[in-house]
Amino acid sequence: MRNKELLLIPGPTPVVDSIYDALAQETWGHTDPRFVAIFRHALDKTKEMLKTNGEVFIISGSGTVAMEMALVNTVAPGEKLLVISHGYFGDRFIKIGEAFGFQVDVLQSEWGKQVDAREVEEKLASASYKAVTITHADTSTGVAANLDVLIPIIKSNGALAIVDGVCATAAMEEDMSKEYGDPNYKIDVVLTGSQKAIGMPPGLAIVAFNQSALAAREKLSGVPAYYCDIYNWIPIMHDPGKYFATPPVNLIYAYDEAMKLVLEEGMENRYIRHKAYGKAVRVALSTYGMKAIAEEEVAAPTLSCILYPEGMDDVAFRAALAERGVILSGALAHLAGKAFRIGHMGNTTVEMLEKAIRIIGETMNDFGYKVNPEKAVQSLNVLV
Ligand SMILES: *Cc1c(COP(=O)(O)O)cnc(C)c1O
Repeated sequence: MRNKELLLIPGPTPVVDSIYDALAQETWGHTDPRFVAIFRHALDKTKEMLKTNGEVFIISGSGTVAMEMALVNTVAPGEKLLVISHGYFGDRFIKIGEAFGFQVDVLQSEWGKQVDAREVEEKLASASYKAVTITHADTSTGVAANLDVLIPIIKSNGALAIVDGVCATAAMEEDMSKEYGDPNYKIDVVLTGSQKAIGMPPGLAIVAFNQSALAAREKLSGVPAYYCDIYNWIPIMHDPGKYFATPPVNLIYAYDEAMKLVLEEGMENRYIRHKAYGKAVRVALSTYGMKAIAEEEVAAPTLSCILYPEGMDDVAFRAALAERGVILSGALAHLAGKAFRIGHMGNTTVEMLEKAIRIIGETMNDFGYKVNPEKAVQSLNVLV
């Protein structure tokens, strides 16, 4: 393992050596047939991961570019977008929608809770929405959305279902072939980034459109974007030897390797592993008297936002952890200073989690708390 630190923030996540090796390969020309073959392979594997026969796009950019690409190709200025938000990243869709002149409505939950499904039903019955965004796992709160509940509500109202999988894809089920109670009730768009549950360095935006989402693009007279217009990219994704804008060659080598690891492990196994990780980390931390802000039934498998015990100095604590090689994130907005966020996704291993739980406990003891790291590690191990 080349990594010297445990990067347990909610992305970027730990990168394994085979992915670093892929990144460090000689840079070939972006139209070199050898590179074109790798790009094709990466696209095919993405389709396999998401079980889609639609179009997938792999472009340079962070997750936010993927969010923008999803919206700008489905909703026209003046049309209505509904945002279901469980925190900071859900709210980001409001800003993007407003930037493109959509009429944006939002249903926000209290942080740590889910938006009530009845509210979604009522809202969708009250007006005609072109699309609805769901943040599968909101990285600010560690709250997961329930697609089994939301997709049928959205689709039965005739809106497009856009799923932000930046902290979920490859770790939580996003099966675009899945019928949610009716053959027409499916996820229309999945978008993600490379640096979270896929386990790569940052730099790639990945977006998948099904046939309904592509039909929505077709109805638009044009889109207020150039780089993010999927019509500029479809020819490239069909034949990566063509040129529109230079692809990040080395990142695509790395992504191809990351997809190989994802598919070798198997999607079902990954869903099970991430569920187990999430629960185990929260149970282990609870032995230190710390609680996730999300209730366990709605807590994300991929990351947790954990409230500190009384009196903890967030900045000093995380600095002490960083000195011992454990990197955690602070919390956002009104939770800043009161909670921290820990990622447990992608290529993170049980050994890494064990080590982090132990060091968190030892550091708490240095800060004057009386906790038992051995016991915490045991409670982690029972569950993973
Ligand atoms: C990280 C994240 C984003 C933003 O991705 P960037 O790569 O930082 O642009 C969007 N949505 C969710 C759910 C995220 O976790």
